[in-house]
Amino acid sequence: MAPRSAYRPFAVTLTRREQLSDNFFRLTFSGPDLTEFADTCVDQRIKLVFGTDAQLDEAAAAESWLDWWRDQPNETRPVMRTYTARFVRREAAELDVDFVTHGTDGPASRFALEAQPGDRLVIVGAYADHPEADTQGLAWRRDGASSVLLVGDETAQPAIANILRSLPAHVTGAAFIEVPSPGDAMVMDTAAEVAVTYLPRSAADERGSLLTDAVFAWTDARASEGEAGSSEAAAPATAGATGVRTPAAASAAASAGEDDMVTTTETGILWEEGAEGGGLRVWVAADALTVRELRRGLLRERGYDRKSCSFMGYWKPGSREGE
Ligand SMILES: Cc1cc2nc3c(=O)[nH]c(=O)nc-3n(C[C@H](O)[C@H](O)[C@H](O)COP(=O)(O)OP(=O)(O)OC[C@H]3O[C@@H](n4cnc5c(N)ncnc54)[C@H](O)[C@@H]3O)c2cc1C
Repeated sequence: MAPRSAYRPFAVTLTRREQLSDNFFRLTFSGPDLTEFADTCVDQRIKLVFGTDAQLDEAAAAESWLDWWRDQPNETRPVMRTYTARFVRREAAELDVDFVTHGTDGPASRFALEAQPGDRLVIVGAYADHPEADTQGLAWRRDGASSVLLVGDETAQPAIANILRSLPAHVTGAAFIEVPSPGDAMVMDTAAEVAVTYLPRSAADERGSLLTDAVFAWTDARASEGEAGSSEAAAPATAGATGVRTPAAASAAASAGEDDMVTTTETGILWEEGAEGGGLRVWVAADALTVRELRRGLLRERGYDRKSCSFMGYWKPGSREGE
């Protein structure tokens, strides 16, 4: 019988660290078991576990890594952070993760800036042989949609790059990515006819404002050409169906307040996965406040169909992941 979750721990060692742009670093990990790591990529999430060698050994060997992690004393429980598998080279037993850095306060950002080859981690990810390896832990589904709108801040850049790489040539649409600096604009590898726009923030720009302005300008222009998203009645979307506990995955609950349709996690971060495709497939991931603005503008003000839209708060300003 297949195990309950497609996710399991992989013991890895940092082998390379490459600066891709002003604020992005690509860290390459290797580990013998990575030959079994699922290469689904798109926006499939992974967990990075930072701990002592003894803790990493225990986490990697535990029958249930999550139970092991939860059972650790609060004071010494290893830090866990959510990232995206950027490239998986199973034949070489290698995995790349692209980190955007934001100083050394956050343990993951600090690791990206300071880690040395030989440093160890445990990465929790889907393993290829599991029957749900390409459906657990990801929100992206095209479902035959021939047009896409991909929207994200710098933390979503790796997932957007993966999604673009997965699209067939006939798919059209737009991608908007807000980044900290003009030097963070990277060429995307895609066969699709999707126009990619990078929006570098200046010191004067409020985080997310370039993104909301650009997206609403695009959707409004599209509407004036008679190609609005959809004005179908909003229908419930699925929330956080994953095999790994993320800020978004478990214990989702409807939150009342300014918008009673918003689904949030227990930490109050908005996370809502549209269950079906549609004419235009919309995927949005950024800091939680920006995602909330985009969701309001698209669903409430422009009548987009909730079923074909995913809105995911990847992080929350002022909060550490999981807090
Ligand atoms: C499904 C998913 C996939 C993700 N994929 C990636 C990925 O591939 N690459 C990537 O770089 N990030 C990714 N993220 C975002 C990443 O998990 C968060 O940025 C995380 O908080 C970073 O951890 P940390 O230890 O550096 O900082 P934390 O300890 O979590 O936070 C410390 C402080 O830094 C702030 N902070 C956190 N992230 C940022 C940021 N990006 N810019 C400015 N301030 C920040 C926090 O609000 C807090 O005040 C993903 C998140 C999710 C949910």
